[in-house]
Amino acid sequence: MKASEIQALLDEPACSHNTKEKSGCAKPKPGATAGGCSFDGAQIALLPIADVAHIVHGPIACAGSSWDNRGTRSSGVTLYKIGMTTDLSETDVVMGRSEKRLFHAIKQAIDSYAPQAVFIYNTCVTALIGDDVEAVCRDATARWGTPVIPVDAAGFYGTKNLGNRLAGEAMFKHVIGTAEPVPASPRADGLPTYDVNLIGEYNIAGEFWNVAPLFDELGLRILCTLSGDSRFHEVQTMHRAKVNMVVCAKALLNVARKMQDDFGIPFFEGSFYGVADVSNALRDFAKLIGDSDLIARTEVVIAREEAKSNAELEPWRVRLKDKRVLLYTGGVKSWSIVSALQDLGMKVVATGTKKSTEEDKARIRELMGEDTKMIDDGSPKALLSTYHEYQADILIAGGRNLYTALKARIPFLDINQEREFGYAGYSGMVELARQLALSMESPVWAAVRKPAPWAKASGPGTVLAG
Ligand code: SF4
Repeated sequence: MKASEIQALLDEPACSHNTKEKSGCAKPKPGATAGGCSFDGAQIALLPIADVAHIVHGPIACAGSSWDNRGTRSSGVTLYKIGMTTDLSETDVVMGRSEKRLFHAIKQAIDSYAPQAVFIYNTCVTALIGDDVEAVCRDATARWGTPVIPVDAAGFYGTKNLGNRLAGEAMFKHVIGTAEPVPASPRADGLPTYDVNLIGEYNIAGEFWNVAPLFDELGLRILCTLSGDSRFHEVQTMHRAKVNMVVCAKALLNVARKMQDDFGIPFFEGSFYGVADVSNALRDFAKLIGDSDLIARTEVVIAREEAKSNAELEPWRVRLKDKRVLLYTGGVKSWSIVSALQDLGMKVVATGTKKSTEEDKARIRELMGEDTKMIDDGSPKALLSTYHEYQADILIAGGRNLYTALKARIPFLDINQEREFGYAGYSGMVELARQLALSMESPVWAAVRKPAPWAKASGPGTVLAG
């Protein structure tokens, strides 16, 4: 990929990082890939496309360190769960046979699994030695008739976030708009059907299935979720949607903006975390579609669902009221989870903003006040000192902070992609409340904070038996 193409992605005009004072995302600095390289970001964004063979073209470690690190679920085919790599060795590089190996890997994937498409992820080694991955993909497509799509996102191009955009770029360039959707069948209730897309929704722990039935009820057909529980054909037909919702603010924003420019599809940014945000997302769909009957029906569904979830949340609100939370996550979750927690009567004492945009930060200030503590340093030491300084009752963060919390003997809730529970939608909110209460009220905390039974007995001069 040319440097100018990468710069164009960093300068995404729809991104709030592009302001008068500041142009584009910062150039990657040494160490920027420590939280995940571009290849990792690209694979995370596309791996949930379930009927595609995802081949990592590079040494085994690239695939090994990134495979299946997101708890995304599929309602059917699970081909995406099979890790595939060309597993290049030094000899392959020295002998110049990596492209040949790639060609054979594509054949093997097609012969063994008959995928709907094959995605080839470029990595540092293959980009550095100058493999022409696009040409191999073109030849393989012509030879076997299965679409073979290059995803040029070598790790050293930059951060994980850039990798998300590169993945979106590959979809926009090679996949979106290459097939037409099946016409929607008439509904038994006679209501019209409107096609929509969700961009940046990954169906972590199957959480989107909490929300999907509401879309069906309102007559909103989801053409594609890029990319949770999606299929290759669905990505091909995304250009026919009436509205796009960008679920994760930074990742894949370029896809939504380009679809607006090229296909005239309006988009909005939103979230499915928290009662108010789910309602607002449904409202935004109805508003942008512009059907007054749909707008009215949406309000009826919102009123019903809010009443139901409020009734279910009541006993949990009593248990969670005034509990103090230290939240360390990024992007859209840095504010959408704040509003969900406030809705439960909890107080967020500080929130992590390392991966948040300026717009995310503005929303945090709106929710938590101007003198909000925003944390950029996510090191265990900084997190624990903030936790104690602000007298928090629970740390809510990503899986990599789990052991920080356990070693410090403090309650913890995993909010990121590795989590086991789905928190999206109205019913997801009840699950969130349940998990928070269970974590904080667990008797294990009192037990592990007590001095060890032998601590007193083993004072100076005490000889332990045995
Ligand atoms: S693509 Fe590069 S930075 Fe990423 S895992 Fe592979 S070698 Fe490491």
